[in-house]
Amino acid sequence: MEKVVIIGTGCAGLTAAIYAARANLNPLVLTGIMPGGLLTTTSIVENFPGFPEGIDGYELMVRLQKQAERFGARVKFGTVEAVDLSKPPFTLTVDGEPVQAQTIIIATGAGHRHLGLETEHLLDKKGVTYCATCDGALPMFRNQPLVVVGGGDSACEEATYLTRFASTVYLIHRRDTLRASKIMADRTLAHPKIKPVWDSVVTEILDVKQDKVIGVRVKNLKTNAETAIDCAGVFVAIGHVPNTQLFKGHLPMNNEGYILPGKGSTTNVPGVFVAGDCSDHVYRQAVTAAGMGCAAAIDAERYLAAMNE
Ligand SMILES: Cc1cc2nc3c(=O)[nH]c(=O)nc-3n(C[C@H](O)[C@H](O)[C@H](O)COP(=O)(O)OP(=O)(O)OC[C@H]3O[C@@H](n4cnc5c(N)ncnc54)[C@H](O)[C@@H]3O)c2cc1C
Repeated sequence: MEKVVIIGTGCAGLTAAIYAARANLNPLVLTGIMPGGLLTTTSIVENFPGFPEGIDGYELMVRLQKQAERFGARVKFGTVEAVDLSKPPFTLTVDGEPVQAQTIIIATGAGHRHLGLETEHLLDKKGVTYCATCDGALPMFRNQPLVVVGGGDSACEEATYLTRFASTVYLIHRRDTLRASKIMADRTLAHPKIKPVWDSVVTEILDVKQDKVIGVRVKNLKTNAETAIDCAGVFVAIGHVPNTQLFKGHLPMNNEGYILPGKGSTTNVPGVFVAGDCSDHVYRQAVTAAGMGCAAAIDAERYLAAMNE
């Protein structure tokens, strides 16, 4: 019987692991298919506190894991395939094997929606990115024209944020009005640096031969006309998909599938806690995920202490 099982080894899961391990709970931490989580896919992280020169995303996650292991966390390669949260102890099916747990911390993260273009994949991290807050300030994007793809609140936020660095921000949207809330849409369209490109989709990101983004090819869906736009970066902001399918029907979620926490990190199932991007559709940052992981471990520890009183 495990006292605490932590599902996920991103910033949320590994921070929860550090706290749970230091509380002598000997947590079992399951990596899923992406040990270290999303941050391992990026090169330089410049906004995680404590690293004035920035730190490589992979290295940061290796350090977090070592820190958790130093206090007794057991990090194991394994994917949770099914859960039974109907009554404690909870049962998880991990790569076909049952694991019983008194408490669970869900830290399964969220993935980005992709455009689905081959050139997007080939130029990922070579000018194609999914997070303006993370990458907008990089030198390669400064004083350059940039493209944001999308028309919702996130796309508007990304475009507005990027005006601090870019010479021009082209906002490419498949419709002729933004889906974002009116106030956000009005603010975005009023910005002198933001130029909307309506009724259009990106068909190709240029230029794979040069191994960096130099522009996009865009098709107008009404006229079928194709044009090219020069840019140094493409920020894809067409939404996220939280990794929460496992918990559908067990835990309350919003329309997009983000788990809705109760007080702190609690859920509607006592003993099940949630942390990080799988329950955060607003901030989605390494440091906020880490903070939520800390909160979930403290909540789990207090829950176990109360059970044993
Ligand atoms: C390219 C890129 C660059 C970024 N740069 C920055 C940056 O500079 N600064 C910043 O603050 N943020 C940045 N972010 C955002 C940051 O990576 C996320 O906010 C953060 O990783 C969220 O942490 P998390 O622990 O919630 O989830 P994740 O990091 O997504 O981790 C989720 C974990 O859950 C595991 N998992 C999922 N399903 C299962 C399952 N069924 N069973 C077991 N395990 C499972 C996964 O394998 C993974 O280990 C960036 C993101 C990307 C993609």
